[in-house]
Amino acid sequence: MSLIWRPFTQMQKAPPTPTVLKAKNTNLFLKNNKKVIDAISSWWVITHGHCKTEIVKAVQKTAKDLDQVLFANFSHEKAEKLIKELSKFLPKNLNKFFFSDNGSTAIEVALKIAVQSFSQKGQAQKKEFLSFKNSYHGDTAGAMSVSARGVFTKAYKRFLFPIHSCSQGQLSTDPDKMFYEDFERKIEKHHKKLCAVIIEPLIQGAGGMIIWPPAVLERICRIAKAEGLYLIFDEIMTGFGRTGTLFAMDQIKTKPDILCLSKGLTGGFLPLALTISTDNIYKDFLSQKKEKALLHGHSFTGNPLSCSAALANLKLIQKNKFKLKNKWAWIEETNKQRLAHFKKHPKVKDVRAKGVIAVIQKESAYESFFAEQASQKALRQGVFLRPLGGTLYILPPYCITKKELHKVWDVIESLF
Ligand SMILES: *Cc1c(COP(=O)(O)O)cnc(C)c1O
Repeated sequence: MSLIWRPFTQMQKAPPTPTVLKAKNTNLFLKNNKKVIDAISSWWVITHGHCKTEIVKAVQKTAKDLDQVLFANFSHEKAEKLIKELSKFLPKNLNKFFFSDNGSTAIEVALKIAVQSFSQKGQAQKKEFLSFKNSYHGDTAGAMSVSARGVFTKAYKRFLFPIHSCSQGQLSTDPDKMFYEDFERKIEKHHKKLCAVIIEPLIQGAGGMIIWPPAVLERICRIAKAEGLYLIFDEIMTGFGRTGTLFAMDQIKTKPDILCLSKGLTGGFLPLALTISTDNIYKDFLSQKKEKALLHGHSFTGNPLSCSAALANLKLIQKNKFKLKNKWAWIEETNKQRLAHFKKHPKVKDVRAKGVIAVIQKESAYESFFAEQASQKALRQGVFLRPLGGTLYILPPYCITKKELHKVWDVIESLF
């Protein structure tokens, strides 16, 4: 019997898991001598490839001199340099960086900041959130509250706070209309009590890799801003190149007030997260009173090793800017070509692609065991996939070769 209790896994049904001995570039090397292509970047974290030499070296170097230090009392150069480098890619007013160590926590922090900021402005009634159907923002209580409700949240229902959930017409023929109508209606009805709108910009990840047009995002962001609501962008999945630009927000003009990053931040090498807010919000927390501070923190806040991995990731992005853009475009183009095969397939409801992400949607139900079966079948053929219910997708590391990408697609074809 397994001693390990695995995430998101019905252990009674779970097949034994293979042991990974080594990971390099797109490949996982298993104990049974098998080599597997990691077509989903190990849950959307790996950017340049597994064990990217520059990141490994940076972490090794830091590890010799510095481990964890208490970030409430000390600073260190890795965090300082990371902020400086990251700022080059961000809007100027997003300039206050709160560190934590995973995506869900980055969201919790964002929610707390939004509520507390309005409260300290004397608008304590503004404490409700508007989020979107199919959204996923993490697994802690606050993050679950603003996420779509379903089998993943059912057991904890009474512990989650109520939110306003906006429907959207992602797969309908007139998505714009459906989308705006519900959004505008909810804003109009609840704006006095709302503090923030939380969004996965351009692609909703765990909810089924649902792609929205930039124009729709732009419009809802403008409406939210016009009402004085905070815009929280959850770029935990979309960040660091997944949508074909470094950040999804690069594809629209309106910018968020709070930005959450994690996953690809360290190139996927180590856990780290950031909740980045504007100066204006930060100022609401300045006071003579301790209780007006953001009284939140974690043991591993701003871990120096994680920061050095993130710094190395950013340096690689900076150095290979044009190469990466081309690579993202090439992956998207290849994906679109290979998706053509599925367009008229009788078992397929929808195909879509954006950036490095490509999606084949079978059924929408999470309950079906298609995902588990497809995953097992693909693994036997040397490709690691993990469909979201009936939504099969790929999200490969950027180092994937032509041969590897086509192999991934050949294996996907064999599943249908
Ligand atoms: C993965 C993810 C999270 C949660 O991040 P964890 O590090 O897994 O807690 C939040 N939001 C989005 C959009 C994600 O994809």
